[in-house]
Amino acid sequence: MLDFPSLRIVTPMPQLTQQSRPWHALELQDVFHAVDSSERGLGRAEAAVRKETFGPNKLPEEPPPSLARIVLRQFYSPLIYILLIAAVVSFLLGDYKDAGFIAAVLVINAIIGTWQEWKAEQSSHALKKLLQIHAVVQRDGAAIEVSAEDVVPGDIVLLESGNRVPADLRLVSEHGLEVDESLLTGESFSVAKDAHWSGAEGASVGDRANMAFAGSIITRGRAKGIVVATGDATNVGQLAVDVVGERGGKPPLLQRMERFSNVVAVATLVAAFAIGALGVLLGRYAPAEVFVFVVALAVSAIPEGLPVAMTVALAIATTRMARRGVIVRRLTAVEGLGSCTRIATDKTGTLTCNELTVREIRLGTGEVFEVTGEGFSPNGQVLYDGRAVDLEAQPRFERLVHAAVLCNEADLHPMGDSWEWRGDAVDVALLSLGHKTGHRRESMLDAYPLINEIPFESERQYAATFHQFEGDVCVFVKGAPERIVAMCEEGSDSSRAAELEAAYLDMASRGYRVLGLASGKAPAGVDSEHAPGEPSNLQFLGFVGMIDPLRPGVRQAVEQCAQAGIEVSMITGDHRVTALAIARDLGFARDDSQVVSGRELEGKTPEELAELVGNVRVFARVAPRQKLEIVKATQAAGHFVAVTGDGVNDAPALRAANIGVAMGMAGTDVAREAAELVISDDNFATIVAGVEEGRIAYDNIRKVTYLLLSTGAAELAMVLMTVVAGLGLPLLPVQLLWLNLVTNGIQGVALAFEPGEGDALRRKPRAPDEAMFNRLMIERIFVAVLIIGGFGFSTFAWLVSEGWSEAEARNVLLLLMVLFEIFHIGNSRSETKSAFSLSPLRSPFLLIGTAAAFLVHLVSMYLPFMQDLLGVAPLTWEMWVTVVVLALTVVPALELHKWLWAKRYGRVRA
Ligand code: ADP
Ligand code: MG
Repeated sequence: MLDFPSLRIVTPMPQLTQQSRPWHALELQDVFHAVDSSERGLGRAEAAVRKETFGPNKLPEEPPPSLARIVLRQFYSPLIYILLIAAVVSFLLGDYKDAGFIAAVLVINAIIGTWQEWKAEQSSHALKKLLQIHAVVQRDGAAIEVSAEDVVPGDIVLLESGNRVPADLRLVSEHGLEVDESLLTGESFSVAKDAHWSGAEGASVGDRANMAFAGSIITRGRAKGIVVATGDATNVGQLAVDVVGERGGKPPLLQRMERFSNVVAVATLVAAFAIGALGVLLGRYAPAEVFVFVVALAVSAIPEGLPVAMTVALAIATTRMARRGVIVRRLTAVEGLGSCTRIATDKTGTLTCNELTVREIRLGTGEVFEVTGEGFSPNGQVLYDGRAVDLEAQPRFERLVHAAVLCNEADLHPMGDSWEWRGDAVDVALLSLGHKTGHRRESMLDAYPLINEIPFESERQYAATFHQFEGDVCVFVKGAPERIVAMCEEGSDSSRAAELEAAYLDMASRGYRVLGLASGKAPAGVDSEHAPGEPSNLQFLGFVGMIDPLRPGVRQAVEQCAQAGIEVSMITGDHRVTALAIARDLGFARDDSQVVSGRELEGKTPEELAELVGNVRVFARVAPRQKLEIVKATQAAGHFVAVTGDGVNDAPALRAANIGVAMGMAGTDVAREAAELVISDDNFATIVAGVEEGRIAYDNIRKVTYLLLSTGAAELAMVLMTVVAGLGLPLLPVQLLWLNLVTNGIQGVALAFEPGEGDALRRKPRAPDEAMFNRLMIERIFVAVLIIGGFGFSTFAWLVSEGWSEAEARNVLLLLMVLFEIFHIGNSRSETKSAFSLSPLRSPFLLIGTAAAFLVHLVSMYLPFMQDLLGVAPLTWEMWVTVVVLALTVVPALELHKWLWAKRYGRVRA
């Protein structure tokens, strides 16, 4: 044999794997070299190639349940066991027809159940996709946001507080970085990181201060790091922990309903057996005959479709919510929304657009400038006294703009015909002001090289940057006006401080978000290595007033909340005067008595807080950590509260809230993971849409419950009366099972699809512990039992007394029951409204399902094979008319009750 070593087939692309190295112990240059990258990061093309090579940056997920599993699951139910026993008993009794029929029922049940679960699974999978984590990476030198899956080794990643670290990173630089690594180390406190740390190769994972590991959370500070490992190769990947693991099992409503259905099932079973035993005791029937009948009666009367319909109702609600921008992370939220009595919302970005525009500038000297233009796009100019000014001749104005542009973390650059930005809205607005006055950050940084910075954090309320300038280090500061004034020399002069306060209060009262700006010499010893302290003895430059337009639709949403019995309150870090101006504009606060500031909340006992919260609508200058106290106090005051949040520090409040709502766009990964709901457009109005859908879902669950319980109870009552009256069995076991199949199978589920009745937001919130089985439900069931059970029994008794055979009487009764239950579906479509006010075309699924089921029954009556199986036969047209008229009586009966109820209680559900 000839050997052609040179012709051996090689794999076309060598299987690149990620190297495992002691990344923390290498020189930074060696790290860059090892991942073939630099401080500039990768190019887009290169990143795409690497993604091909290394695969997406994600951890292996648990695969969704297989179809086979879902099918099998349909059989794990006591009810099914009973049916199986019944089939076996029928078989042993030689009743093969019944046995076969029961088997068919089992199969059809399993098909319906599987289809529903499969759909629900699919939609939850689609929703998960919407919740992906994003990361900011540097590609071709520009910072861009990508999905965390697209991060590759060699990427430069920019991190800020609230981010989840997308991959294992060696830190290149960092400012005051603190990280929560509990996922890796189990320690739940933040650890400080240090890009300049150099440690031994043997340092434990928790000690590697120059590394940030995938899955950990940035609790404070900023950082830049180079990706050294992605996906499976990361530290968490090796631990095989699912980073975004879903929490929480079944929602309480489902659990309660499952328990409820079990109780009903057991009660029905007991009742059915009692009726059977009674029949045997009265000497009417043989025990063997009665057994199968009892089982069929139980199966028919038990609302076995209830938990399924419930799951479907919740699943539909999540899809409908997703369509309106509400992503449900935990199903509890769906039912919870219906009980929400107060929404505590952020101001910036939720009520407002968070597209800030600098509108007014007031220098320390008192001169006022106006700035024109809309949004972030830097088209506009600066006016003084209504006229354009020569800014060159305004050195103080120049200095203020320097501070605004240098003390800044955002990006704003032209992109084709429009402008692209990234970063905090305040910062972008200031960059926009810079552009309008001819100052670009990049060129300014050449003149003032950045040495160090104190990044903005909500709890600090200011930001500072330190720059090299003419042999000195100078500092620029911006932040909440009172904080900035206090850092300035002028702040120590009380009359001057009062003058400045009056100036910014005047701006705030007009709804401006006001920022103070100052500059000065940095204290000696500030360098790039050590975290600087709070600046002082600064020179005050001026105030900047920014407008933040209200989001469209928010005003109406606040109004809808008022109608829906939901109070709105605002929790903001902004100044009380600004906050009140906006709350008044939106109409949920009147005057300053409804405003309280974070400072005033300090030192209050929980009781005092709960007392206070009732009247307050605006919480201003609140530090993020105080949000939790406010939420708890609101709950202590008896509210079921939905809270919005976006920052890292909001997570505890989001968890404590009855419904945590995170912002999809501005929200940090941490906030999103702590929340039950994510609002994809950050808009307050979207939360209200969620409330509406939540209420509709709950209504639908009640409708299904009513339909299934009332028809089951009516069947039991009808049989009980027949047995007590000493008549023969009113329906055969197969007929009972058939009745259940054609009236309860698809319709119960279809009711869960009902669209809203349009008044969901015109009712008071439902008490969170309101029982499903309340007075309305009981009275309505009673009416149905009276009509369906009563007429069913009387018809059977009348026919038998007229000399009809039992078989003929059963044939009529079965049709009557089928029609009763079909008409009753119409009654169940609204608890308050007339069945005639709702067009059947509103819910095509229900209409088609019901019509199809009835058609099946109709056809069976005329099909010899089915006639034989079900014991049915065609009726005369006179009998048809009688039966239809009788069945229709259930409609006016329920209409009457709805009318009486409305007269008694109004259109509510008490
Ligand atoms: P909000 O609830 O309005 O989002 P924040 O906590 O973000 O409140 O801001 C609180 C205060 O801090 C603001 O009123 C403003 O004065 C100041 N501030 C906000 N953003 C910045 C920033 N990027 N740099 C400096 N100061 C800021
Ligand atoms: Mg903010």
